[in-house]
Parts: sequence; C-alpha cells; structure tokens
Amino acid sequence: MKIAVFPGSFDPITKGHVDIVMRALPLFDKIIVAIGINSQKTYLYSLEQRMAWLTEVFQDKENVEIDYFEGLTAHFCNKIGAQYLIRGLRSAADFDYEKTISQLNNIVGKDLETVFLISQPQYSHISSTIVRELIIGEGDASPFIPDVVSNDLSK
Ligand code: ADP
Repeated sequence: MKIAVFPGSFDPITKGHVDIVMRALPLFDKIIVAIGINSQKTYLYSLEQRMAWLTEVFQDKENVEIDYFEGLTAHFCNKIGAQYLIRGLRSAADFDYEKTISQLNNIVGKDLETVFLISQPQYSHISSTIVRELIIGEGDASPFIPDVVSNDLSK
C-alpha cells in the first residue's frame, strides 16, 4: 500500500493545499495530512482548530486521514509506515528550501521519497502567511481559503 504524508502547519489550510491533496489522491492509496508541531513556532490558530478545519475539508475523501506529530517529519513517516512525502512547489525559493530537506529526509527517513507537485498558476501566489496577514488586517481572505474556513471566520 502506498501511503504518503502531506506535512505542514496549515495555519490555516488554503486552496493551494487542497489542490495539492486532490491532485496527489490518484497517486497514492492513502494520504495523511499531518500538522507538524514546531515548539519554536507560534501559530495564529490552535492545533484543535487547524485539525478541525482539515477534518471538515477532507471529510468526504475516504483515502485522506488527518493527524499531527511532534518531532521530525521523517520519524513520523517511519512510525506510521508511510514511504512518501508530498510537498507543493510554488517558486524557485520553495525549490531551494525543499531540495535540502528532501535529501535529508531521504537519509533520516530510510529511503523516504518526497514527491513534489508544482502548484497550479491560479494558486501559486497563495500562502498561509498572506492569508494570516489578510485576516489580521481585516481584509477578505475568502478567495484563498476553503469555504468551511471562511464560513467559520465570518461567524
Ligand atoms: P510549512 O509550515 O511546512 O511551510 P505550509 O502549511 O505552509 O507548511 O505548507 C505545506 C505544504 O504545502 C508545503 O509543501 C508548501 O510548499 C505547500 N503549499 C503551500 N501553499 C501552496 C500553494 N498555494 N500551492 C501549492 N503548494 C502549496
């Protein structure tokens, strides 16, 4: 069984993340969308809130599971028996950052392979960082986030 982990902060999940998962679905038997908890980082939304949004967004996708982990992504993959990591690439800056991490994960994660999907042009400008800035600045983030998230935010 081909199991892949799509790791990230998902603070919050964006339409760019959703597009990557949808396009990766035919490639794997199971995708675990997993929130990595980095103790050095502060988040806008709690782990519980981010997990709840992920669960809602992918509720009708039976091959998608939601999880979270502390520590190294590669160790989490080994622990749950995932042979693949999924990452999205928006730009050359993403590539430079991801290249080293992928090479490292291949060693630390015992032949863990990272599969990269290039973002679609209509999503390549979307990041959780700009979404957070819009929300904090009281702008309209709804074009960039799934409906379940924008509906919650407008409550
Ligand atoms: P991290 O904190 O690891 O950067 P993110 O939640 O920001 O986590 O992103 C998780 C993954 O989703 C990364 O591989 C990132 O490149 C990818 N990603 C984020 N936004 C987009 C987008 N708009 N299009 C394609 N991939 C994206």
